[in-house]
Amino acid sequence: MRNQQSTQLLFELSRAGRRAHRLGDLGVPSVNVDELFADEALAETPPPLPELAEGDVVRHFVGLSTLNMSVDTHFYPLGSCTMKYNPKRNERIASLPGFLNVHPLQHESGLQGLLELLYELQGMFAEISGLPGVSMQPAAGAHGELAALLVAAAYFRDQGSDRSVVLTADSAHGTNPASAQMAGFKTKTVKSNANGLVDLEDLKAKLDDKTAVFMLTNPNTLGLFDSQIEEINQLVHDAGALIYLDGANMNAILGITRPGDFGADLMHYNPHKTFSGPHGGGGPGAGPICVRDFLAKYLPGPVVTRVENEGASGDDDRYTYHLTSPSVDSIGRVRSFFGNTGVLVRAYIYLRTYGGDGLRHVSEDAVLGANYLLSKVKHFLDVPHGDRCMHEFVASATRLKKEKKLSAMDIAKRILDYGFHAPTVYFPLVVDEAVMVEPTETESKQTLDAFVEALFRITEEGEELIHDAPHSTRISRPDDVTAARRPILKWTDAAGESAT
Ligand SMILES: *Cc1c(COP(=O)(O)O)cnc(C)c1O
Repeated sequence: MRNQQSTQLLFELSRAGRRAHRLGDLGVPSVNVDELFADEALAETPPPLPELAEGDVVRHFVGLSTLNMSVDTHFYPLGSCTMKYNPKRNERIASLPGFLNVHPLQHESGLQGLLELLYELQGMFAEISGLPGVSMQPAAGAHGELAALLVAAAYFRDQGSDRSVVLTADSAHGTNPASAQMAGFKTKTVKSNANGLVDLEDLKAKLDDKTAVFMLTNPNTLGLFDSQIEEINQLVHDAGALIYLDGANMNAILGITRPGDFGADLMHYNPHKTFSGPHGGGGPGAGPICVRDFLAKYLPGPVVTRVENEGASGDDDRYTYHLTSPSVDSIGRVRSFFGNTGVLVRAYIYLRTYGGDGLRHVSEDAVLGANYLLSKVKHFLDVPHGDRCMHEFVASATRLKKEKKLSAMDIAKRILDYGFHAPTVYFPLVVDEAVMVEPTETESKQTLDAFVEALFRITEEGEELIHDAPHSTRISRPDDVTAARRPILKWTDAAGESAT
């Protein structure tokens, strides 16, 4: 049995008069605070705050912190999300006062170290993508999509073009069509073919002189690299449109191939995925975007620039770094100040730690780990497009559902009892009863084997056991919709009054 207190609210633990501490005689006269304020400024009754000892509070919050699954506590194969290990080195360095305590309104002269780091990071993002124009302002992947599509819109406006349609793949993340809509485009969906790749016939049918951008995820959300990329590149560019690469799956191709080399004109990174920024629970993330040189003038800013100092005597004072405001052609700012620099600092440290060939290893190991899992899992779960995969793969529980009434959701719930975070389920939408597994590169063979063993056992277990799972977690199986829409946040005060 775990710490009982962590299931109770602070209000329920409260006992009248209990305090965190009591001070001894301080040698100064005491003052009654009531006398310091006019009567009408005071409430008639004190606010109903819980009264607790310090130990109660500490146990309560430490208890709550142990209820979460995290990459630090569990294997976390949440497909598409790249829940990779967050090196503690990143945290230590990002917490140095020179990074942590800077103020966004501080003068550039006091920010030279941070600006140098960010300048170098822009260069690394450009190099890894093969696209020279970089803006690190967007705050997340989806925000990067929006910003880049606004860049594309500004470009076409300048060309006097009325291209107004963005094509998205049916296997794309929901953010793709959403971002296109928000950027003012109409969207059309391009189908996947039987192999899970872009259906070229459908792409041809939908490309015309109204198409502004084709948004492609490559490797795609099925964990497949689209081998038709040269043809796609040709078709889209011949039609006068641009290719946007959703870079959420860069973890599979770092140092192996570059979006700019295979045809992308614009892209975003998710540093909180690919470059090990801690994430989950909504952020903070970052969504740096990279574009071809003819699009760079439309990028949101500020961006970091540097000038060489005249008469510099050594490396230390060679350059001065500036935050350069957006140009007249720019789409402007897409958020306040510079961006989520904390995540960017972590990305920089991650990139510096691995270096160029280390990064290639990251991707090779990510792909190896996923293929190892795939080769085992496909013996007991169908994997519709799965001879080989990139850094993740999508299995399907359709057959199990027919034969044993065992759904993807059942598997996701039951695997918690085995001490693993659930894989992503029901995404991408093109696979029925999808179970999407992404191991990430730092997991050992032992962990992967234990995960396969757990998955296999679940497929052999009795229905009743699984339908009520999980059994070992604090809450068993809430109704997903009700739990999100009508959460019960209830406490009862000493007088038995309840509030929500
Ligand atoms: C995560 C993800 C996004 C959105 O990125 P956020 O940083 O969560 O906004 C877009 N596309 C794909 C394929 C993703 O996996």
